[in-house]
Amino acid sequence: MAINNFWIFSLTFQLLLLLHVSSESSWITDDASRRPSKFLEYAKSPEVFDWMVGIRRKLHENPELGFEEFETSKLIRSELDLMGVKYKYPVAVTGVVGYVGTGEPPFVALRADMDALPMQEDVEWEHKSKVPGKMHACGHDGHVAMLLGAAKILKEHHQDLQGTVVLIFQPAEEVFAGAKKMIEAGALKHVEAIFGIHLTNQVPLGKTASRAGSLLAGSGFFEAVITGKGGHAAIPHHTIDPVIAASSVVLSLQHLVSRETDPLDSKVVTVSKLHGGNAFNVIPDSITIGGTLRAFSGFSQLQERIKEVITKQATVNRCNASVNLKPNGKEPVPPTVNNMNLYKQFKNLVRDLLGEDSFVEVSPIMGGEDFSYFAEAIPGHFSFLGMQDETKSYASPHSSLYTVNEDALPYGAAIHASMAVRYLEDKASKGSDSPKDEL
Ligand SMILES: [Zn+2]
Ligand SMILES: [Zn+2]
Repeated sequence: MAINNFWIFSLTFQLLLLLHVSSESSWITDDASRRPSKFLEYAKSPEVFDWMVGIRRKLHENPELGFEEFETSKLIRSELDLMGVKYKYPVAVTGVVGYVGTGEPPFVALRADMDALPMQEDVEWEHKSKVPGKMHACGHDGHVAMLLGAAKILKEHHQDLQGTVVLIFQPAEEVFAGAKKMIEAGALKHVEAIFGIHLTNQVPLGKTASRAGSLLAGSGFFEAVITGKGGHAAIPHHTIDPVIAASSVVLSLQHLVSRETDPLDSKVVTVSKLHGGNAFNVIPDSITIGGTLRAFSGFSQLQERIKEVITKQATVNRCNASVNLKPNGKEPVPPTVNNMNLYKQFKNLVRDLLGEDSFVEVSPIMGGEDFSYFAEAIPGHFSFLGMQDETKSYASPHSSLYTVNEDALPYGAAIHASMAVRYLEDKASKGSDSPKDEL
């Protein structure tokens, strides 16, 4: 009798234990292909969605430029504190690097950029930028909210993570190549792979876009001061005219792409500014020109040729030229090249999450992104997340009318979190040989 009672008790206890375990948020026993949808449902729940929207709007009202993201960074840290996510700060001035999971290899990183642009917002709405001349016009406020959303999802399930997810909140994407500084400050220590997502108005809501290999061009800038000798416009032979020299320079620069580049290898050299002189009858002392270059290959060679063409054309015209390839501290960024395996993983994941037609294969884009520094250092994958819907038309990034479709935020959070989990599982099934280290 006593024995029978014991067995009945024991069986009941085991059943209760089983019920308890299965009601927890563990995914271990779940079908792996169903998990991303669960993450998305969670990210779309009013509790998480409203919280992400709140963060995005707070950041939108208080935009901060590159390496000045102190309040943005503070908000991120306070949210990570509330979640109980450990982090390193400061990393590259305002950067934050959070860690969720075992604290052991493998390490996989997710990245969001935090900076705004020096432009005036023209959208009239309740949460318009409160800072004159500064605006989140590239969606980086949304990127931060999506990565915090991913952190929340991952933290909810941290006991099931088979490694560590590194959350990289980086400063200064727009101008100063904050990614490069983050790498120099050790943000990628032991990290094996990295994923980045950018919101786009070019793709419908709930769809993603990417490609294997070169996705975005290497991007750089140049500024040159061409100096001659000013004087009376009616007595040109007593002057050394920098206007003529600058004109030759502008035309000669066009030949770098049209005559020196394989027509099948896309490159751009654009002179977008030309300043000098303020009178009809005075030849100025100098002219300043400036512009941008884009290339998927031979980027530094193109930079060198731009420098050479400017200085030599100036010399031919008896002028001097000084060329700056980092005007106002604007760092060039290399091309963003997506790793083939990560691209395949990403494509499979979004199809599991959002359906067969949720992935759009895009052609290479001449725009630049400093995510390229991460993807140059370790295997990386950068993708676009659509936000276009029938309700309104969304302006292009860097427009004063730019808006974020906040309905895209749960997709970003769920894709981020699912990619990290899938990467870690994949690695766990294959084994990792990365060194163990303290966070
Ligand atoms: Zn931008
Ligand atoms: Zn951007």
